[in-house]
Amino acid sequence: MRKPIIAGNWKLNKAISEAVELVNGIKERVAGVDIDVIVGPVFTALSEVKKNIEGSNIQLSAQDVYWEEGGAFTGEVAPGMLKDVGCDYTIIGHSERRQYFNETNETVNKKIRASLKAGLKIMMCIGEKLEEREAGNTFDVVKDHLSGGLQDIAAENVKESIVIAYEPVWAIGTGKTATPDQAQEVHRFIRGLLTEIYDEDTSETVRIQYGGSVKPENIKDLISMPDIDGGLIGGASLKADSFSQIVNTADKIYKENN
Ligand code: PEP
Repeated sequence: MRKPIIAGNWKLNKAISEAVELVNGIKERVAGVDIDVIVGPVFTALSEVKKNIEGSNIQLSAQDVYWEEGGAFTGEVAPGMLKDVGCDYTIIGHSERRQYFNETNETVNKKIRASLKAGLKIMMCIGEKLEEREAGNTFDVVKDHLSGGLQDIAAENVKESIVIAYEPVWAIGTGKTATPDQAQEVHRFIRGLLTEIYDEDTSETVRIQYGGSVKPENIKDLISMPDIDGGLIGGASLKADSFSQIVNTADKIYKENN
């Protein structure tokens, strides 16, 4: 079993003091887990959250990044600056970025390249909207997002530094979760694409997270699927209890299988 990765995307929530309280609540509940645990606060809380996870098993992620290293780009944050504040990861290509902020496969690809150069790891989000699923286009959309985002990125980088987050847009923040079978079907498809684009070794190494209304109640069935290697969690990551329950369940299954 690949080592599970559970990440909390806090979105536009939690000012500094709230973020610190949340991460400290998580920290005491997940000490001792073997899996990867990541929190993703807003930019302004990264520094304080970093101080509070120093020496713990929690890693830090930003929610987005820009592709330039610096210069006249008002409002943006460079990959090197995320590294500087102590980020291990950044999320790139979240559907909310695609929907509200004109993120495209091309900008996702630029952000990935710049982040790799700065030594950041990446959770790259891909996934179809409801109308695309209903029109039978799920696999086409997923293929387009995956191949576009990873354009000309070397297998070595993908294996070492990129996690794919499959997030069907219709399941994000809606309370509707893809069934474990629905998610597994797409994860399997993504793994097949990774074999086509790269090779078997890359495909078997890369972790594919599922995102979309993951909760303590459904993580066990999701993470038990052969191609689901973790979760990207929105709503349920905003409470220490629910996020930690998700982490601990994934860790238990990992320990049972290794
Ligand atoms: C997300 O924001 O990536 C997400 C999956 O949100 P939620 O868990 O709330 O559906």
